[in-house]
Amino acid sequence: MSEQEREQSDKQKYEFRKVIEELKEYRGSGTQLVTIYVPPDRLVSDVVAHVTQEHSEASNIKSKDTRTNVQDALKSIKDRLKYYDTKPPENGMVLFSGAVDAGGGQTDMITRVLESPPQPVESFRYHCDSEFLTEPLEEMLADKGLFGLVVLDRREANVGWLRGKRVEPVKSASSLVPGKQRKGGQSAQRFARLRLEAIDNFYQEVAGMANDLFVPDRHDIDGILVGGPSPTKDEFLDGDYLHHELQDMVLGKFDVAYTDESGLHDLVDAASEVLAEHEMLEDKQVMEEFFKELHDGDKATYGFEPTRENLMMGAVDRLLISEDLRQDVVTYECSNGHTERELVEGTGTPTHTCSRCGEEVEDGEREDVIDHLMEIANQRGTETIFVSTDFEKGEQLLTAFGGVAGLLRYATGV
Ligand SMILES: [Zn+2]
Repeated sequence: MSEQEREQSDKQKYEFRKVIEELKEYRGSGTQLVTIYVPPDRLVSDVVAHVTQEHSEASNIKSKDTRTNVQDALKSIKDRLKYYDTKPPENGMVLFSGAVDAGGGQTDMITRVLESPPQPVESFRYHCDSEFLTEPLEEMLADKGLFGLVVLDRREANVGWLRGKRVEPVKSASSLVPGKQRKGGQSAQRFARLRLEAIDNFYQEVAGMANDLFVPDRHDIDGILVGGPSPTKDEFLDGDYLHHELQDMVLGKFDVAYTDESGLHDLVDAASEVLAEHEMLEDKQVMEEFFKELHDGDKATYGFEPTRENLMMGAVDRLLISEDLRQDVVTYECSNGHTERELVEGTGTPTHTCSRCGEEVEDGEREDVIDHLMEIANQRGTETIFVSTDFEKGEQLLTAFGGVAGLLRYATGV
């Protein structure tokens, strides 16, 4: 992925996150909020047929309000679908519609269409509830890592992928390792030797399977997780069966009771802390760098105005934005031609007093602060990094530095 593409996708993810946050707030008084996930290969005409069917079935809903609301939502979705030809946009789309509580017994009819989510919609889903269904979209937004998974004991093994949050089993093997009980007439030494040989062969087979799957993609892999009961997984790792480059990528070994496909899921669960840590690695590194520059160097800037000024100069190498920053910037221009900006939260535009001439300016141009900064960043070739608040220094970016900071290309003194 080129830097530009990554920035596009960061920006798009941010836009999606904002819409999802809005959608999550809504509640319906009954099961009347409709969500439809449309995969990219589903014909729009099929979706329309499904919606028509649901519309007629909704006539059986007992509560008159709910019935009317569901039917209105479905009609609104059908109207939106008219804008699409035979197929949905790339990666599919998600439609949301329903009468949401607006307080005081009132409802508002809202309809949103999210086109081309960051990953393809996997399956068609029709969902009607008192809340919109946003989880599948949220999972797509989760940082997308690629991890190789291996679970094994002496009898069977499974290898697969973890892509983002999705576990994909790929190959399995089962062994011919004899049990611990030897048959009568066999010498104990001979039995032990054969058994060790069989175990060794099986580990080699599992490693071969893992190597075939992971080695070609090793440059895209974020790490490898190995799971199983003790001592199998330890023997497997200590015996250096894996390709040496893969061996170096092992993030950890984990106790997992099952080694069938469900074991792959157990492995991901068992590794959740390691995975969370890994996901934040880039964020942590960039914040370490920021604090180092702040204390010992001169190439750090923070706060909205100083960062913006540095951005305008083209002096910012990496723009750091807190993932949880939710503010707008209002740009005011007084009649004397002074332009000033103010950060606001919530709705409404406060009156601004021009700091240079004292004029009261009533109205300004309101814009999302992240959109505002990212637009300048894109024009100046500055990389934008969204920083999680799930670790201490990430939290500090939001609470102590206003959610906005920058690592500079050169010291500017701003
Ligand atoms: Zn002024």
